[in-house]
Amino acid sequence: MKRIISMVFACLMLTSTAFAQEPLIVAHDTNFKPFEFKNTDGNYTGFDIELWAALAKKAGLNYKFQPMDFNGIVPGLQTNQIDAGIAGMTITPARAKVISFSDPYYNSGVQMIVMADRDDISSINDLEGKIISTKLGTSSETFAKSFGKAEVKLYPNNDAMFMELISGGADAVIFDLPVVQDFASTVGKGRVKLAGPLYEGQAYGIGFPKGSALVEKVNKALAEMKADGSYDELYMKWFKTAPRK
Ligand code: GLN
Repeated sequence: MKRIISMVFACLMLTSTAFAQEPLIVAHDTNFKPFEFKNTDGNYTGFDIELWAALAKKAGLNYKFQPMDFNGIVPGLQTNQIDAGIAGMTITPARAKVISFSDPYYNSGVQMIVMADRDDISSINDLEGKIISTKLGTSSETFAKSFGKAEVKLYPNNDAMFMELISGGADAVIFDLPVVQDFASTVGKGRVKLAGPLYEGQAYGIGFPKGSALVEKVNKALAEMKADGSYDELYMKWFKTAPRK
């Protein structure tokens, strides 16, 4: 009996240390440049990737990244299949009901882009009866649908969303400002242009399962990074400008 008890005890000890060493699963989008995207060497890089790495280092967190389509991240957090998600995720009241967010780490907004030779679209109102391409499960889907007067085509990733515009299948893309800005100045250079004003001020937060103990640790690390200048440095590296307040 004694032997059995000590064996059970030893097993419990072993499993609990294994759990303690299990890396956190941290999801990010498959492509949301310049926040997360594949480098020419095939590895992921970007502002989100490097921000998380720095936060985890400060907070002493062991983790593994898991790229996934954006619309899988909130459900993955809700079902505890992932421990955190950093994906330029807009803090919205609807999401905040089902997951927890870190403090905001980036101020964004929603922007239209059109083909460079279009001069008939300078506001969302010019999209009446037209086709908008955007990404499934994002705050831009909600925004585009709330306009209510255009057909909204949804794609699971940025490449397909932008391709729909380039190939003539949509009149405009409506999506996050820093991402459309990046697209317009790289792959889409000379082919697309930003149109209309910036809609909807948005802030990005890191997502966690509701009530996760990680929120406080990550917020503390983020506050430290903002105080010691490393946040500003990282921002400058990726966006070539000081943080938008
Ligand atoms: N900021 C947008 C959202 O949260 C898009 C994020 C993304 O596509 N990675 O819905």
